[in-house]
Amino acid sequence: MSSKKAGRLDRSEGWRDSVRECLAAWYDEHGRDLPWRGEGDPYRVLLSEMMLVQTTVAAVIPYFARFLERFPDVQSLASAPEADVLKSWEGLGYYRRARQLHAAAKVIVERHAGTIPADVDTVRALPGVGRYMAGAILSFAFDRPEPIVEANTQRVLARLLGWTEDVRSSRSRERLWEAAGRLVPETGAGRFNQSLMDLGATVCTPKAPACLICPLAALCEARRQGIQDRLPVVAPKPAPLAVAEASILVERSGELLVVRREESGLWAGFWEFPTLHLEGANPAGRPAVAGPMDLADGVMQLTGVHVQVGPELRTLTYGVTKHRVLVRVHPARAVSGADRPRPGSGMTDARWVAPADLTALTLGSPARKLTRWILENPEKLGW
Ligand code: SF4
Repeated sequence: MSSKKAGRLDRSEGWRDSVRECLAAWYDEHGRDLPWRGEGDPYRVLLSEMMLVQTTVAAVIPYFARFLERFPDVQSLASAPEADVLKSWEGLGYYRRARQLHAAAKVIVERHAGTIPADVDTVRALPGVGRYMAGAILSFAFDRPEPIVEANTQRVLARLLGWTEDVRSSRSRERLWEAAGRLVPETGAGRFNQSLMDLGATVCTPKAPACLICPLAALCEARRQGIQDRLPVVAPKPAPLAVAEASILVERSGELLVVRREESGLWAGFWEFPTLHLEGANPAGRPAVAGPMDLADGVMQLTGVHVQVGPELRTLTYGVTKHRVLVRVHPARAVSGADRPRPGSGMTDARWVAPADLTALTLGSPARKLTRWILENPEKLGW
């Protein structure tokens, strides 16, 4: 489809000025008061943007405050052990971001004397900083005229311009970035970008956009054509891949056996209960077993402890990357080798831990869910 049919990107400078003016007036009155805004501190912007990836503003706010208390500046973050950083991030999910933030802080301290750089190429060279995040840091913290396109601005732009192609396609992404680049003003870029995001979050929402109260209503192509409820066009995502795993709760004298994963791959460096792959894809690269009869062999492979496995206690599910994982949870008793568990395949540590001490470990989300359940149902471990 030609871009003319897909939407109208060929807008005049007068139209763009009107968009900027309308948004500026609206933002003065309706902009969101978020804890990472207002001070132009690039560290706060970097931290908040890393936290906001795949996460809602409401979920991030308490984490942001706690994290900032623990790591008030880029130096304190750079010098912290990774385990402390992951612990402060625990529960927020998407841990790769925490590692990237930590790595970025180290680069900023080691190569940029502790100052977050203010030019686009250097910022984009930081670990975990892509096009959107660079635009956010440069416009929010330094007021550089850099555009941003994320979920909210993408939706507003697609509607404003009447863009009717799948917004996930590379062509759409490129065209919407171009449009955002032409819209962002030379001065006041940070406020402009934030106003576009806020409009998307509060007025031009995914379902039922509130066009009647929208400051851009008179300028909006989707509204003019009456197609705002049908935009943006988003092609459906493929169904998640099914995975089945088994987590084994091995108990000895009131303590549970846990292992720590090696420093690469999914859940890198996290503690978990010995967990084996049963069926489907194997995103975490776990040792595979053919079925329940082989679970004891799998635990031996992971920990060196010979166990007797009991019947399934419960199941839990979680999503990770493009997978939907069903976990079958079994209790087990140690039979031999329990005095000296040793880390086996893909593990760096194995040890016995009292249930009450599990929460002090850095746990991945499935292990954390399971720990919560154990602490609430200690009687269920006996069989
Ligand atoms: S007029 Fe409606 S569709 Fe257009 S930007 Fe405003 S809320 Fe969104």
